Amino acid sequence: VLRTEGLVKAFGDHVVLDGIDVAVGRHEVVVLIGASGSGKSTLLRAINLLEPIDDGRIWLDDEDISDPRVDADRVRARIGVVFQQFNLFPHLSVLDNVTLAARRVHRTSKAEAEASGLRLLERVGLADRARSYPDRLSGGQQQRVAIVRAIATNPELLLLDEITSALDPQLVGEVLDLVAELKEQGSTILMTTHEMHFAEHAADRVVFLKDGRIAEAGPPEQVLRDPQHPDTRAFLSRLR
Ligand code: ATP
Ligand code: MG
Repeated sequence: VLRTEGLVKAFGDHVVLDGIDVAVGRHEVVVLIGASGSGKSTLLRAINLLEPIDDGRIWLDDEDISDPRVDADRVRARIGVVFQQFNLFPHLSVLDNVTLAARRVHRTSKAEAEASGLRLLERVGLADRARSYPDRLSGGQQQRVAIVRAIATNPELLLLDEITSALDPQLVGEVLDLVAELKEQGSTILMTTHEMHFAEHAADRVVFLKDGRIAEAGPPEQVLRDPQHPDTRAFLSRLR
């Protein structure tokens, strides 16, 4: 679904992504880990065309989306994104948040968008909050709504950037459970998280970034349990 080739991004003379080759196959969950500042968010932003790149290519299916001639809005309509916080529009109800993209970008009718939005909210146990405003919901509920909004348009790829980092610890589980459920249902996901327990169980592959380079990548039982690179070991031991 997604493949980057030699992705390079610098801010001034600070090279933040230094030749990243990462691939996410259909129905795969790939978890990016790495210290603060290692480039994880920049990589996700580059893939969503929120950050112009200096070199390399990004393929979404067989389209080179790094080609400057591509329509970024059209590409973004194929990718669902959830960030750490400030995801929902505070002045819109839960249901309007969920249906906005379907209606605006995909030109779905209001009735159709609302019916499918309600079905999705029901699936995550939030149908009774459809008419609520985001500030009446817990952080965990808000992030679940943000995930529902991201999948409401059936994106080919989901990008999740530390979606539980701003949550109270007791709310993390309900959000990660939903991500695990999406994986079961076949979503294709590239995400960053500090929840190594989740990565160990849900990831097909773990990619460890260090100073904008991939220092180590592989199945979670290898990268997390038996890391080969000293930097991966140092990173993981600091978490434990
Ligand atoms: P964290 O775990 O803290 O979220 P990260 O791995 O997501 O870290 P990035 O946010 O990708 O790291 O940032 C990588 C580097 O790029 C950092 O040194 C950051 O300061 C720098 N950076 C990010 N965005 C910009 C920007 N718009 N202008 C200048 N420097 C930036
Ligand atoms: Mg980040």
